[in-house]
Amino acid sequence: MTEAQRGVYPVMLDKPYADEITQPFWDAALEGRLTAPRCTRCGTFVLPPAPFCFNCQNDAFDWVELPGTGTIYTFTVVRHPLHPGLTDVVPYVSGVIDLDGTQGAGARLIVNIVECDPETVAIGDKGRIRFDKVSDAYAVPRFVPR
Ligand SMILES: [Zn+2]
Repeated sequence: MTEAQRGVYPVMLDKPYADEITQPFWDAALEGRLTAPRCTRCGTFVLPPAPFCFNCQNDAFDWVELPGTGTIYTFTVVRHPLHPGLTDVVPYVSGVIDLDGTQGAGARLIVNIVECDPETVAIGDKGRIRFDKVSDAYAVPRFVPR
């Protein structure tokens, strides 16, 4: 584990848990780009990536680059360290981000919300996805409110 940083959930893996379905997301992440698969039939974004569209069961997708901005849909502040390695990390914020560029069509991202005051962060706060490179193979998305 890397050195603990308050508010930043530590990354314990240096490789993404990827397969052919999710690898395009991680390839783009490593380049600092946010992408999501969009169903070629009905236009629904399927994030996290899945083998089939949950709306129409189509199995073909286009990978679309998104602006990388969004809005906090919901969040929680974790104050109790559930692992000894998290003692110096709490409090940290985890949340669900509505991603701009998805027309409300299914693309939300669960991420650690960083560079914010856990006492004042709020639903509806806007911001951007930041990719933190944690190894040669892996960059993790985090959300930074404005
Ligand atoms: Zn579809």
